Amino acid sequence: MRYFLPVLAVVLLCCSSNSGSDMSKEAAQVERLPYAIAIHGGAGTILKENMSPEMEAAYLEALETALSIGEGILQNGGSSLDAVVQTIEYLENSPLFNAGKGAVFTHEGRVELDASIMDGATRNAGAVGSLTIIKNPIKAARAVLEHSPHVFLVGSGADRFALEQGLDTVENTYFHTERRWKSLQKALEKEGQSTGQLDPYAEPDHKYGTVGCVALDRAGNLAAGTSTGGTNNKRFGRIGDSPVIGAGTYADNATCAVSCTGTGEYFIRFAVAHDVSARMAYRGESLSDAAQGVIDELGKNGGDGGLIAVDRYGHISQPFNTAGMYRAYASPKERGLFIYQK
Ligand code: ASP
Repeated sequence: MRYFLPVLAVVLLCCSSNSGSDMSKEAAQVERLPYAIAIHGGAGTILKENMSPEMEAAYLEALETALSIGEGILQNGGSSLDAVVQTIEYLENSPLFNAGKGAVFTHEGRVELDASIMDGATRNAGAVGSLTIIKNPIKAARAVLEHSPHVFLVGSGADRFALEQGLDTVENTYFHTERRWKSLQKALEKEGQSTGQLDPYAEPDHKYGTVGCVALDRAGNLAAGTSTGGTNNKRFGRIGDSPVIGAGTYADNATCAVSCTGTGEYFIRFAVAHDVSARMAYRGESLSDAAQGVIDELGKNGGDGGLIAVDRYGHISQPFNTAGMYRAYASPKERGLFIYQK
C-alpha cells in the first residue's frame, strides 16, 4: 500500500490521453515520491563567525525536532495540512524563532503575530494578522481555513474568532523574550538618534526568523504554511507577506507548495509564492528553475530572503539570497539540515 498511490499516479500519467503533449511525456517519466517535507526558520545575515557553537547546536536541534514531527506524520499516512500545522506549532513554541514565543516586538513593545496556511487540494486558505493573545497563530489560520467563509482576519476580530474556536490563549507577555526586547531597545535607540523611522532592512545584522513548512502527503496533496512576528520595531499595524496568500504562502496540487521569508514588502509586491507556481504552470518550468528564478528576480529589485518549496512529485527547492537561512528537508530520497550557504 505504501507505494501504491505514487505508482498508480505514474501509471495513470503513462496512460493519459493527451500523450502527444510534451507535458505528459515529461510527467510520465517523473517518479512521484510518497511524501516530502521542507521547513525554514528564517533567512538573513546569519554568519558562522557570529554564531556560538551552543546557538548553532540549539538551532539545529530545533530544526531536527520540527522536521521529525512533520516527517513522522507524513510517513504514517497523515495529511500535509496536519504536518504543516504541527511542525509550525513546534517552531512557534520555540523561543529561538520569530514566531509565537520569541517573536519580535512592535514599536509599542508588544507582540503582534501573523500566519497563513493553504491547502493545495482545494486552494482553500486561511490567514490571520496582528494576533496578540492566541498561543499558536498557525492553528488560528487553519481555523479560518476550516471554519470560516473568509480567508484573512486581522486584529482584535481575528483574536476573537480564534478564541471562539476554542484555541489556547495566553497573555501577550508569554511571547516576550529578553533577546527580542534588547533588539527593540537597540532599534529605538538608533531611531532616537536619527530623523524619522528606522528601516528594519537596513540593519546590518537583520534576520527574519519567520518559520514555514511545505509538505506533500501520500495522497498527493500539497500544503504550505508560514508564521511570523513580522519585523522588529514595526508600527502602524504593519503586516508583511507571511499571512498574505500568494506572497508568503501558496499551494496548488497542480504545481507546488511555497513558504517564504524575507523583506515582506518586496515579497508582497512580487507575489513571490504565487509566482513560483505560475512559472511552473504557464512556462512549464521545473520547481528549482521557478523557485531560483523568482528569488533572482526579487534580488535584482532589492528584496532579500528565501523560500522553501516542494512540488507534486516531491522535489524540494530552498533558494535564498541572504548569508544564511535556517532550513531542513526530508523525503524517502533525501534528508538534510542547513544554516549557512553550502
Ligand atoms: N517576511 C516577514 C515579514 O515581512 C519577516 C520574516 O520573514 O522574518 O513580516
